Amino acid sequence: MLRIMPLALLTTLLVGVPVYWAFPEGLGIWRSAAIVSGWLGSGLLLANLLCMIREPWLAKWLGSLERMYGWHHWFGLAAYIVILCHPLALALDAWAEQPALAWAVLAPWQQSWPGWLGWLALLCLMAGMSSALASRTPYSTWRRLHWLLAAAIILAVAHLFVLGLDFPLLWSPLLAIGFILWRVVRADYGLAATPFVVSEVRSPARDIVEVQLAPLSRALDARPGQFVLAAFHDGPNFRGCHEFHPFTISALGALGELSLGIKALGDCTQHLQSLEPGVTASIQGPFGDFLSGQAAGRSLWIAGGIGITPFLARLRAGPPTSPVHLVYLYRGEQDAAYLHELRSFAQSGEHFSLTAGESGSKAPAFSDLIPATPELPGTNCYLCGPPGLVAAAVHYLLAQGVPGGQIHFERFDFR
Ligand SMILES: Cc1cc2nc3c(=O)[nH]c(=O)nc-3n(C[C@H](O)[C@H](O)[C@H](O)COP(=O)(O)OP(=O)(O)OC[C@H]3O[C@@H](n4cnc5c(N)ncnc54)[C@H](O)[C@@H]3O)c2cc1C
Repeated sequence: MLRIMPLALLTTLLVGVPVYWAFPEGLGIWRSAAIVSGWLGSGLLLANLLCMIREPWLAKWLGSLERMYGWHHWFGLAAYIVILCHPLALALDAWAEQPALAWAVLAPWQQSWPGWLGWLALLCLMAGMSSALASRTPYSTWRRLHWLLAAAIILAVAHLFVLGLDFPLLWSPLLAIGFILWRVVRADYGLAATPFVVSEVRSPARDIVEVQLAPLSRALDARPGQFVLAAFHDGPNFRGCHEFHPFTISALGALGELSLGIKALGDCTQHLQSLEPGVTASIQGPFGDFLSGQAAGRSLWIAGGIGITPFLARLRAGPPTSPVHLVYLYRGEQDAAYLHELRSFAQSGEHFSLTAGESGSKAPAFSDLIPATPELPGTNCYLCGPPGLVAAAVHYLLAQGVPGGQIHFERFDFR
């Protein structure tokens, strides 16, 4: 509850202040509804834009980056629905005067600049929202279509300016532009990133490289379990793809070095398999709180494939101080990254034990891997891996009586 307070407070301000200033007096009910829905929608869009700003301090303050992205979606959807009510309320207001006028309000060709800009903004919003909600769209297409939403906001701001804005309300569209620029310049173009250089590359398994990065200016204040966004640039024989992708830290060095285990899952990560020492990188973060504040007592870690990275970083930082059992699943023998290292941790660490095995491409039989002992419901469970595996493991643990609050997982696929 406390974690949601800063965002709730900011949203109330972003939504409440413009609605309060613009609140109509002495107008008909539909005209008033149109004005209120317009400003309510723009307040929700401001909250939506705030939640896409990618700064470690903001993510920490508002809960986490994943939580911010979740709210970003909900605010976007709410804004979309409320904004659709704006032209409808205007048409109903015109209808009350004369039915033919209602059609004139809804027909873009019967309008002038303010109406055209409003309609264009609405069309971009509709197209952008449909693509944002289509979960099967490939990530790169989805990202490109997201620009339609930015275009919708810029057109909506122009719509407000052309209509003529009262001075006290000017901050609202300016803030919207400011939030977009903040995200684009600091996150997408990397102004907020720290420069690193690849100092070592090795291949712990098929289609996986582990890259060690050394800081070129300052080290990041990161913990095991956190992730960074990394963009790789050009090197002696390597052409970077320059786009930022999230990777979990797999090791932290004494001099600020950090390692990332990267599995070839798409175009960019496939290309990154040929990384070489000397390539420069921009790193943003750290983000996330997976494994932080790990409760005392018995823990169960479940890792699928490259989802081993946060657990590896934790083990590499030192032996656990309370009992931990790791269940590590991989498709086939050639995919068993870091297995030797994990086995040596299990042999030397008094509190650490390991069950590792091939699971092929199907969900494993959890009842064999994680016996339903009397201790299981009191165990803190941490899961990281492909969404299907995580969902199946959560289902099994809940069925064994592990409370939902004791199950923590890291998703490698949030948008
Ligand atoms: C918090 C987090 C931690 C991760 N840690 C690791 C790790 O330690 N090792 C590892 O190999 N992979 C990790 N991933 C997954 C990794 O980010 C994707 O595999 C990679 O971005 C794929 O990019 P691509 O262009 O090769 O593939 P694409 O085909 O473009 O994408 C494949 C899938 O990866 C996801 N993805 C792509 N780009 C991004 C992006 N910029 N932001 C968020 N998701 C994206 C999408 O779900 C997409 O559907 C992590 C992802 C997240 C969200």
